[in-house]
Amino acid sequence: MEFPEMKRVVVKVGTSTLTYENGRPHLRRIDQLVKVISDLKNSGRQVVLVSSGAIAVGVNRLGLAARPQETRGKQAAAAVGQCDLMSLYDRAFSEFGYVTAQLLLNRDVVDLPERKTNAVNTIEALLEMGAVPIINENDSISVEEILFGDNDNLSAIVAALCGAQGLVILTDIDGYYDRDPRTDPAARLVARVTRVSDEMLASAGGTGTNRGTGGMRTKLEAARYCMERDIAVAILAGDHPARLYDLFDGRAVGTVFCKGEAND
Ligand code: GLU
Repeated sequence: MEFPEMKRVVVKVGTSTLTYENGRPHLRRIDQLVKVISDLKNSGRQVVLVSSGAIAVGVNRLGLAARPQETRGKQAAAAVGQCDLMSLYDRAFSEFGYVTAQLLLNRDVVDLPERKTNAVNTIEALLEMGAVPIINENDSISVEEILFGDNDNLSAIVAALCGAQGLVILTDIDGYYDRDPRTDPAARLVARVTRVSDEMLASAGGTGTNRGTGGMRTKLEAARYCMERDIAVAILAGDHPARLYDLFDGRAVGTVFCKGEAND
């Protein structure tokens, strides 16, 4: 299915989009993102937001000089930042009449059937009630989530859990390039991908910035996971959230991963 026809979508936003380089929340961008998501909801769509940024915002709020290296410090920062982030989202969404809801998930929502059912039922009920579920990893109690987890893969799992037709990943690059654009000037943006190959995964880079944990590799993993389940994925630059309108109006933007016509 193409994005303009979709009725239920997951939007994932990364730390690099939500914060300045100094770690402070990028308020203008958060406001713009919330406005666009509210408008997508006004147009009759259901939107689930997967938001990173808890650790970075917590580090800033606590006045720490740098992101803690050890797990307990990251977990504490996440606990502080998650509150801060939710309060920013809640204030912004309420301007457009929308209620927010926080869900902190671990990977066991996939492994344990009872937890999975509970998560699915809660998200479904929230969407029926018109609320905006805002999901993050439960960083503060989950060691392996912080060490290995990333919200790209989490957002793909969430898209599958809630039966979304599409997942939009907003990040600090405007799509998937056939080579690393930071080191290779000949790199070309790929508008449409129909299959995520092992070679694409092997050559994709790791972390994009030192504020988040994902990179292109985790985005490709997320895209592959979704495509196997007939969920389309778009990777867009998050610096101008209004690009989401282009995607949902059917204009070419970023990279769309969808089974069908050949890679260009
Ligand atoms: N869950 C982490 C946070 O909110 C970020 C994980 C990620 O960047 O993928 O800070």
